[in-house]
Amino acid sequence: MEPIMHQVWQRIFQRFHRTLNPLRRNHSGCAEHVAAPPSAHSRPYKPTLLVSRLYQPSHLRDVGQDTRLQGEMTCKSQRLMLQAGLIHPSNPGCYYYLPATVRSMEKLVRVIDQEMQAIGGQKLDMPSLCSAELWKTSERWDLMGKELFRLKDRHDVDFCLSPTHEEAVTTLVAHQATLSYRQLPLLLYQITRKFRDEPKPKFGLLRGREFYMKDMYSFDVSEEAAYQTYESVCQAYSRLFARLGLHYVQVQADTGNIGGKLSHEFQLPAQIGEDRLLVCGTCSFSANVETMTSDRMDCPQCKTGTLMESKGIEVGHTFYLGKKYSQVFQATFSNAQNKLSVAEMGCYGLGVTRILAAAIEVLSTEEGIRWPDLLAPYQVCVLPPKKGSKVDEASGLAEELVHMLAERLPRLRGEVVLDDRTQMTIGKRLKDAKRLGYPYVIVVGQAALEEMPRYEVICQQTGETMFLSEDGLYDLLGRVETI
Ligand SMILES: [Zn+2]
Repeated sequence: MEPIMHQVWQRIFQRFHRTLNPLRRNHSGCAEHVAAPPSAHSRPYKPTLLVSRLYQPSHLRDVGQDTRLQGEMTCKSQRLMLQAGLIHPSNPGCYYYLPATVRSMEKLVRVIDQEMQAIGGQKLDMPSLCSAELWKTSERWDLMGKELFRLKDRHDVDFCLSPTHEEAVTTLVAHQATLSYRQLPLLLYQITRKFRDEPKPKFGLLRGREFYMKDMYSFDVSEEAAYQTYESVCQAYSRLFARLGLHYVQVQADTGNIGGKLSHEFQLPAQIGEDRLLVCGTCSFSANVETMTSDRMDCPQCKTGTLMESKGIEVGHTFYLGKKYSQVFQATFSNAQNKLSVAEMGCYGLGVTRILAAAIEVLSTEEGIRWPDLLAPYQVCVLPPKKGSKVDEASGLAEELVHMLAERLPRLRGEVVLDDRTQMTIGKRLKDAKRLGYPYVIVVGQAALEEMPRYEVICQQTGETMFLSEDGLYDLLGRVETI
């Protein structure tokens, strides 16, 4: 054999050999895994998500009035989430987030990341454990009172579990190399667990002691620039809620213990809301009752409209902080004249777990969860017929359908579950599916066995039921938005 041909054959042989024997020895004689070269044929997409194997639908049950299981039942989202096996109570104000909830939350985090990064936000992660020294510097160690979770380390040094990170982020920026005015606005954000020692945790994930928040902090060259940043964050929040299909009101708010000069809350109107809002019937004016100094119900903005009271769940909060923290911690930048100047700040929160629960609260019916379309843990549930029923033979079609959906609509991979609990009637499994709120439930029954197979599709968001051909089904599901 020509030497060059020999080399080519040797390479082909080596590659073939590696593909067949993924486990080989490296130089030190230890076994190592070698990934087969990626190709469409070597890694077929196969995993089927079986409801019987998911850690959660098997927990579907009527928790009813058993307070041992659920703690005190205080609102719809809490009851629905417990019944669907989405959360499990641990200690007051703390919950296990079960796998379906985590899937939903990860989707929400992706939407938030997209919107924050679209306005220049950069994600970081700060410690939850924060030294008291920082909080004493800002004088909030005393101001926060009992809401702050406090603890001591082994050296008897005080710490807190952070509910918010103004001190931490400002001191970070102060300690890094001096910023240039050209680098501003600087927007840093994180999505982490926050802690608050609520006197009376209630409403499930709506008012807990441990929860997820997105908190963003902005640094600007001037007050004017800081207001522009403030406005762009409010617009990003508006786009976020629009994408989630959530109606919100933006109200003037109290600055509370965060401090600063200007503040807005983003509220989802809801009966169980703990905030009282005044909304003008004529113009865009709306405010939290806390901020109103007068008892009069005429609108201070347009003067002609009447204020109506409604209740809301606070899901977002924005603050213009000015130099409150940057002055204390010396977060400075070098300005155009190459002189040090103190940055103007803002901070912007979104309750991540709270948005999830509040969305369920405002969108759901009493019987079942309705998610914002983008956030449903799984988009589609396929129901094969009951074992031993007349249409038992359609079972194979249901499995085939799940595989075909993954082949033809790759975006839905990982989004389709097969409810293989075929010892149960369709009716019982439909009830579970309704509780969990899969946006689309496909029943594979008699009609699927006909010469022109049709599938029964229940759109849970609208309550509509339709019979669709295979093409009709791909057409409908091809339009499902995923993230
Ligand atoms: Zn008005």
